[in-house]
Amino acid sequence: MSARLGWPTEPPPFTKTDLDKIASQGCAIPGCTCELGKLFFRSLCHDDHRGVDVSYLKDSGILTVSCAVCERLMLKIKIAES
Ligand SMILES: [Zn+2]
Ligand SMILES: [Zn+2]
Repeated sequence: MSARLGWPTEPPPFTKTDLDKIASQGCAIPGCTCELGKLFFRSLCHDDHRGVDVSYLKDSGILTVSCAVCERLMLKIKIAES
């Protein structure tokens, strides 16, 4: 399954609850019948390249996923428990 994400402005970081919600919505590709369970993130802007950059900042506990081609922010995931 695949979720296509791209944001005009910086979004708040996602939590596990947010990711579970996205995963439960199923695959974003029309007609795709892939199984639920594993969620892949692909950029809206350069979907054909299928490349993402993932970085993690220890101090904030936030994982950032962005397009590997144009560095457009896709999503942030809050790893640290609070
Ligand atoms: Zn799919
Ligand atoms: Zn891009």
